[in-house]
Amino acid sequence: MQPLRGRTNAPSTAARRGDRLTGDDVDAFADKRRRMVDEQITARGVIDPVVLRAMRAVPRERFVPSSAAEVAYEDSPVPIEEGQTISQPYVVALMAEALRLTGRDRVLEIGAGSGYGAAVLSRIAAEVYAIERHASLAELARRRMKDLGFGNVHVIHGDGTLGWSERAPYNGIVVAAGGPSVPEALRSQLAIGGRLVIPVGASQQVQELVRVTRIGPDDYRQEELGTVRFVPLIGAQGWIGRTQTVGTPETQPY
Ligand code: SAH
Repeated sequence: MQPLRGRTNAPSTAARRGDRLTGDDVDAFADKRRRMVDEQITARGVIDPVVLRAMRAVPRERFVPSSAAEVAYEDSPVPIEEGQTISQPYVVALMAEALRLTGRDRVLEIGAGSGYGAAVLSRIAAEVYAIERHASLAELARRRMKDLGFGNVHVIHGDGTLGWSERAPYNGIVVAAGGPSVPEALRSQLAIGGRLVIPVGASQQVQELVRVTRIGPDDYRQEELGTVRFVPLIGAQGWIGRTQTVGTPETQPY
């Protein structure tokens, strides 16, 4: 993982001004986005053209605090508000590909955070429902969707470990935070044939990325996709209670 302090780029005019981006800045970000896809994503084996196109289209710099716009395209998570992180670009692409979505699918994301992952999914699927437990993050994400015109993303404030039964079943469910086990509520809100991608681990330090496919009403297949590290999934079917230890950090950027 590349440390943020390792960057060498000088801040752009827009980042120094901290205000609106000019046409030149937008082009510079489009260039960074193309490089991000080539160097961080296709280079590591993500090949789904629809996912790659979505990663080239979504302006990641608009989902981080304006002071972090210059580091938005680095090969790492970036700190956002409420002590959380926006996921590393490669991890967003890997999870989107693992969901095996089509343009007709309805997707649920747990852990909307900045809204970036949901915006990427909105370029791949028909409708995206994204739940966030921090009200302020949910509000920020909602505003970004409106400003950027991602009309098929619906941001909900609440505990995503319980899913969102109002729009169930889902063809895909993705969890952007690591839990101790696969929440039962999420399994039950999968359509038959639907895929759930979630980091699961007995500790909050490291998780296994798991894909659960519902192959029948009571039948699920589970595959392991690799080792990852996410901020903790906190909720009724997540790390509730165990995270209440004094001094336990809520964020563990990877
Ligand atoms: N997809 C996000 C990643 C944000 S980090 C992005 O692209 O920016 C994970 C997020 O999960 C954090 O914002 C955290 O607050 C949220 N989270 C943790 N537990 C949650 C829960 N039970 N329900 C909803 N959101 C949760």
